[in-house]
Amino acid sequence: CGIFAYLNFCVPKKRKEILDKLIKGLQRLEYRGYDSAGIGVDGGNDIEKSEQPTILIKKRGKVINLQEEIQGREDLNFDLEFDTHLGIAHTRWATHGVPNNVNSHPQRSDTNNDFVVVHNGIITNYKDIKKFLIGKGFEFESDTDTEVIAKLLKYMYDTRESDSITFRELVEGTVQQLEGAFAVVFKSTKYPGQAVASRRGSPLLIGIASKSKLSTDHIPILYSKEPSKKLLGANKEKGNKIGNNQEALNTANSTSSFQPANGDGQVEYFFASDASAIIEHTNRVIFMEDDDVAAVTDGCLSLHRIRRSVDESSTRQVQTLQ
Ligand code: GLU
Repeated sequence: CGIFAYLNFCVPKKRKEILDKLIKGLQRLEYRGYDSAGIGVDGGNDIEKSEQPTILIKKRGKVINLQEEIQGREDLNFDLEFDTHLGIAHTRWATHGVPNNVNSHPQRSDTNNDFVVVHNGIITNYKDIKKFLIGKGFEFESDTDTEVIAKLLKYMYDTRESDSITFRELVEGTVQQLEGAFAVVFKSTKYPGQAVASRRGSPLLIGIASKSKLSTDHIPILYSKEPSKKLLGANKEKGNKIGNNQEALNTANSTSSFQPANGDGQVEYFFASDASAIIEHTNRVIFMEDDDVAAVTDGCLSLHRIRRSVDESSTRQVQTLQ
């Protein structure tokens, strides 16, 4: 029922500081109600590595239980320093599957945690997606609707036609298959230091903290060329042809994205279900709109949509909260 994520780019932070921030963010969202909590953080700090393991810690019950669980983890080096890191955190209000550790978020694509997601909302077509993925050999471990999102993303990745596909393109292809309501933030072992988020029907906002002045307070929306093909349902009359996903994934050229001006590149981003979780870190926020996809790559934030409808704004404003 609450999402909090924190990405530090070129801002050295000890693991302990990162974990404390995540826990604090969750505590700020406690008032929304929840039955379990969890986090996903990096296993190692070598950002040059093409893959970075993700550690998941999930616990039924109060945020304090999760906090105690984290403190008791002897495999975590709390002093390890991360120059760039993405941590995602979640408080769950169970809609599908009882409150327990496995059903808590982040939900994952596979036992290697290649793609992990925190999700608020309900995926109404999760049964169809689950059936499709089971047909592709995926094995499910939770009873949540959310698990299909992580696994569908992995399927998109596994069936990609080009290694140059971006994390954001994979997420765009994935969220277009979803029906229902969602706010989601993704983390991947394959894309270290990158965050991708989207929403439809559930709130999600982005906080930006940077010492240098922002280069703009209007972030342009980048439009993708064409919508993805429906993997399920809508294309049935055409034989529901699966495959060739790459063609289906979007290829917006990221020519414009936000980055702090004249700075040393240092920037911190926050994603949260509501402003109360980030206001202590920054008062500069962007309220994401339905079907926006936000991506942080190399410290730059870009905002994407599939299509532009006539009456919509082509920018998102960075608002200053009072
Ligand atoms: N539907 C998801 C679940 O039951 C997410 C619930 C929530 O918004 O916390 O796991």
